[in-house]
Amino acid sequence: MGLIIKANCTLCNFSKQFSYGGDMMNHFIWNGVPAIHKNTGEFIVENYIMREELKDKLNFYTEPQIFLGEKEEFGLQHGDIMLNRKWNKCPAYKEFSLDFVRRGFWD
Ligand SMILES: [Zn+2]
Repeated sequence: MGLIIKANCTLCNFSKQFSYGGDMMNHFIWNGVPAIHKNTGEFIVENYIMREELKDKLNFYTEPQIFLGEKEEFGLQHGDIMLNRKWNKCPAYKEFSLDFVRRGFWD
């Protein structure tokens, strides 16, 4: 089961809702985790299973350079992946002002 997450910036009007994780049927082939594209700066949700292939292009929000402070012990968890709820990097202004808020589940 995945989570519906809303990304909200506390400094600008950037806001995006996305599906995090995978569902029961395909979680071995798709595990959606938000990331910033290194060249375009775009906020995208990509397949974390492919992270080795994607690491030259993307910074996933699991990587310490795109959130501030320590990894939260009780962040937004999917399997062994953890997203911090606060102080994630905003793709628009590059400030650490992006919150991830859980809106619901999907499966
Ligand atoms: Zn912002």
